[in-house]
Amino acid sequence: MRHFKQTLRLRIYILTILAATLLLGFRLFINPVHITGHLKRNPKDTSAYVEGIAVIVKGDNKVLAHTFADRHGNFEVTFTPDKEKSFDFFVFGVAVDTMLIGSVKTFDSDTPGMTFYIPALRKKNLLGQMLCPKCSKADKVYKIRYGDGLPVATRHISESGDTTYSPIVNGHYNAGTCIVGAATYYCDRDKLKF
Ligand SMILES: [Zn+2]
Repeated sequence: MRHFKQTLRLRIYILTILAATLLLGFRLFINPVHITGHLKRNPKDTSAYVEGIAVIVKGDNKVLAHTFADRHGNFEVTFTPDKEKSFDFFVFGVAVDTMLIGSVKTFDSDTPGMTFYIPALRKKNLLGQMLCPKCSKADKVYKIRYGDGLPVATRHISESGDTTYSPIVNGHYNAGTCIVGAATYYCDRDKLKF
């Protein structure tokens, strides 16, 4: 009988610890994240202006926070994560079309310091193909072609007869604008420029 009581006490003790861990984990999960960000010019492509650029944080394609970088390229944003699959950082400004500068799945702490390059640092696979900063794959990445202002698109007719237009022509993404943006690649999986 005594042994049984001891086992029961031990079980309650373990359950209490489990419950506390769960509660604590949950608390951590809903804590707001405060990011101190730094934007830097990509040394290989210094065409973009970093000063005063708009920064947008999206989670599952929903805007979680937006702000402007100061003239040194520093910015701060706070938001509360909610089970998003990834957190995507975009910028846009003068001569900079909305483009992805970074994507993370989680944050190291509640107050991470993060440095981004504009445009994002290029990563290639072993075959020399450009990798998308979000999905880390190359198969849907196209080089952006800035044209003569004419929006060029290829027509697709689906099995149900619906017509859609894709900006991807001959293995290039057509920007449909003569203003050359800072983004040079487009991922058709994530529908974003980088
Ligand atoms: Zn992608």
